[in-house]
Amino acid sequence: MTEYDAMPRTEYFRLTPRGLGTEQVESLASYVNRLAHVHGVSRHQLINHLQMWWERRTGSRPPRCESVRLNGYSKDALLWLEVLQAATGEPQLARCTIAPLSGICAANSVGSVRHVRAWCPACFRDDLAVGDVTYDRLIWQLQPVQHCSLHKLALLDHCSACGNVQHPNKKIADEAHICWSCTTDLSAHRDRSLYRRTPYFGESEVRNLIRYIASTDEPGFHPEACHRFGEALSRHVGKDEVRDSFYEIFHCSSSHIPRRPQLQALLAFATYFNINLSILLIDPEAAARQISLAFPTVMPASRPRNLSEHRGERVGWFRAKLAEAINGPGPYLSPPKFCAANHYSYAVARHYNAKLLAKLGALWRAQEKKRKADVTRRVQMVACQEATRIGKEPRRSIAHDIAQRANAPLHVARSTLRSAR
Ligand SMILES: [Zn+2]
Ligand SMILES: [Zn+2]
Repeated sequence: MTEYDAMPRTEYFRLTPRGLGTEQVESLASYVNRLAHVHGVSRHQLINHLQMWWERRTGSRPPRCESVRLNGYSKDALLWLEVLQAATGEPQLARCTIAPLSGICAANSVGSVRHVRAWCPACFRDDLAVGDVTYDRLIWQLQPVQHCSLHKLALLDHCSACGNVQHPNKKIADEAHICWSCTTDLSAHRDRSLYRRTPYFGESEVRNLIRYIASTDEPGFHPEACHRFGEALSRHVGKDEVRDSFYEIFHCSSSHIPRRPQLQALLAFATYFNINLSILLIDPEAAARQISLAFPTVMPASRPRNLSEHRGERVGWFRAKLAEAINGPGPYLSPPKFCAANHYSYAVARHYNAKLLAKLGALWRAQEKKRKADVTRRVQMVACQEATRIGKEPRRSIAHDIAQRANAPLHVARSTLRSAR
């Protein structure tokens, strides 16, 4: 066998996708456009040619791909992936799609791939600046992604000049940065209001996932990863806790969790448990082990609390405080206030220290009685001195003066004046 024989000879040019192994990997729809371009034909012509070629080869005609979301994981998208892989001999094309999620995510592809193109104008500018061809990144075509992680710009999905959306399959221009409708340069759009500092919910999880998909031909994702994760986790942290968490994410009991959740639900799941989505899908048991490792470090190690010992200590401490207050010179607080001042429950105090508390109550009442008597005496003395004003001046101003001079509440001065009438 010569070296030449070892080279795979394919019907179509072998074109390498851009950005393999990185988050910036090219999307399959963009790849098809570039493939048509290098063949010097329109996308429509290339697709027709491929359909006929595949029919000759296998006897079945692949579906028209105008309505197929090539970057996704539907049955038709998987078939087109197979056709393109065979036609170009490029084995790594699956890295340009989220095909590895077939059998993992919802069959209806809800919440996964966009129906129209989205792009970051600054990324197009970067491509052009280094003399590269412009291409659509796979990450831009996923619905949960709203931003470019490099430039922190919100992705655009329509031409700012003519307002048209850019369909990924139909009437596409030769280069990704040219609007198919008005041939405006999409990379020229500059708008400061597109800047977003923080990523949206789930965006970083999708990035991790795409980086992983773009770097391997055999992702090895497990179906029913969430279920297996839940089962493994309940062995580590208990069934009830896992059941509550699942209910919070899926809003249904754990027995009703979809076998193939939507991509958005998977993201919510990974974000909730703060686990890497790829690890969850590759090895759910390992992911469960990892996060159960984190539990003891977050929460202090629980030990059986010796209630009686604690209570005994605290009761003794409070009794000493009470005794100290009762034997002291005062002033005394009322029993409820004394408990509150010492952060102690009044009910508990009455239960354990009823006698001491009663003593404190008696002392406090005596103190209050004496204090009130003193006030009344002071008010009466002042009222005697002001007695000549009664009948000449308004009562209100007399009462006010008495209260002020005797340093007493106004109501005491008023009632004293009333009784003096
Ligand atoms: Zn960008
Ligand atoms: Zn346009």
